Amino acid sequence: MTALTLGTVVVLALVVDALAGRRARLDIGRDLREVAFQMSDKLDRSMFERWRDIRIMAQRPLLRRPETAAQREALMALQNTYPDYAWIGITDPQGRVTAATGRLLEGQDVSARPWFVGAMSGPFVGDVHKALLLERLLDNPDPGAPLRFVDVAMPVQDEAGRLLGVVGAHLSWRWADDIRRSLIAPGEAHTETEIMVLGPDGTVLLGPESLEASKPALAGLARAGTMASGVETWPDDGRDYLTAYHAGQGFRDYPGLGWIVVVRQPLDVALAPVADLRRLILTGAVTIAAIACGVALWLAGWIARPLNRLNLAAQRAGESSAPGDVPADGSYREVRDLALALRRMIRALTEKRVALEAANAGLEARVAERTAALTAEIEERRRIERDREDLIHRLKQMAETDFLTGVMNRRSFFDVASRDLTIALHHGSPLAVVMLDLDHFKQINDRYGHGVGDEVLRSVAERCRSAIRGGDLVARMGGEEFVILLHHAAADAAAALAERLRVALAGTPVALSDGRAIPITASLGVAVAGPDDTTIDELMTRADAALYRAKAAGRNRVAAAAVGGSA
Ligand code: GH3
Ligand code: MG
Ligand code: MG
Repeated sequence: MTALTLGTVVVLALVVDALAGRRARLDIGRDLREVAFQMSDKLDRSMFERWRDIRIMAQRPLLRRPETAAQREALMALQNTYPDYAWIGITDPQGRVTAATGRLLEGQDVSARPWFVGAMSGPFVGDVHKALLLERLLDNPDPGAPLRFVDVAMPVQDEAGRLLGVVGAHLSWRWADDIRRSLIAPGEAHTETEIMVLGPDGTVLLGPESLEASKPALAGLARAGTMASGVETWPDDGRDYLTAYHAGQGFRDYPGLGWIVVVRQPLDVALAPVADLRRLILTGAVTIAAIACGVALWLAGWIARPLNRLNLAAQRAGESSAPGDVPADGSYREVRDLALALRRMIRALTEKRVALEAANAGLEARVAERTAALTAEIEERRRIERDREDLIHRLKQMAETDFLTGVMNRRSFFDVASRDLTIALHHGSPLAVVMLDLDHFKQINDRYGHGVGDEVLRSVAERCRSAIRGGDLVARMGGEEFVILLHHAAADAAAALAERLRVALAGTPVALSDGRAIPITASLGVAVAGPDDTTIDELMTRADAALYRAKAAGRNRVAAAAVGGSA
């Protein structure tokens, strides 16, 4: 804002400066033209008066009479009326001076002088020239500069118009200088205004010493006309001057000498008031701008301070604040209104926040409750799933296992043994089946009871299981009859195993938990799978037949079936 203010003020100052400069040039130009006109007019009027003086003198009847003394007196009287008449004289028609002021040059021949030659044919004015004959005879008030004259001369004629002589006057050129001085008031020397008189050819007739008698090349001279002004660089000092011209026109019947009055004033001096004005405006402008900025800053601070406090309060409102935290002592109404609005807003926000927190707490509790319920439900489902799998496993085992002895049951044995037979036949690997039936088991039941019979069955099953290798099978076919499947067992190996089992059963009575020992024996039938055995039933039938033979042969023995059913 400071820059904006300053910029505006400076631009205004420059505009004012430019306008004032233009105005000043026009005004001063007009003033200088006025001075030039005054100078020119005074010169012409003054010259006209001298012209009239001399003409009246030339027409006086006295001059036609040979009365030298009276004529001289008349000339002196005229000279006394005007101090710048340096010399007035009368000549005869041949150019000899007959009477003159102060008797100067009387009797001398002036026939060669231009004023005499000129006046012989009519009224004559002669431009500024140096005094020749009179230089030594007249008092020169300024011995440094040569005396200079302007000449006015008129013919003296009789009634018939014949030339009787010439009246001539030398006008001291100091006269022009006096007029010049009269135009410049003594108090105006500081304006450095100078007035010059130039001849028709541009020669300086009156002016500063440096220019006198020179012919300065001035562009304005050509278009001097009657009046003109402008800025010109002068050759004498190279300075720029506001320059005004006025070309003299003469006055009434005085034709004039074609003088051009030139008035000049140095441009910087002429425009000094403008420069002063510019300085004044700029200083004023900067001062005003500084004050305005100061006031604006103070005002901005005054407006912003309570707003900043409100801003801080509004920021805190997001965290934790009471409506009372907002300062309501603003310096102007708008801030107080804003503070009240902020208080209302904070109150509403606080209420909303409390409500939200309560709702949030309720929600969290419900979520925790629901999560716990879900976790319990998931746990319960897993447990049920485990139980179900357990049950399935147990059911499967139960379905495959003989419930009394824990070995494979009949149905499961058929499944597994059928598959094994197929694989063994495919690989050409030997496979054998041993059928085992306890001897006279009915009697054990009868003697010791059904429970002891069960115990004996469990013991036999366990002994069978410990007699075979890992991959082989033991199953209970029903009652007190067991079957054993031997992998990779040819006829002799199968018979050997059956024999070892028979000896072991017969050699070690079943020891009951109450300490009693029950002696048992068993009969066994062995059959080995041959290429013709396409089903396990056929193989078992053959083993059963061998078992029957063992029973028939007296029990407690092993019988083997022939391979491939060729028993
Ligand atoms: P053999 O030497 O001719 O085989 O005579 P045995 O008495 O062993 O033959 P039998 O087939 O006549 O008798 C089988 C007996 O097995 C009949 C039955 O009471 C008994 N038995 C069958 N199943 C069970 C059972 O699960 N538990 C008990 N304790 N006895 C059973
Ligand atoms: Mg039996
Ligand atoms: Mg039996």
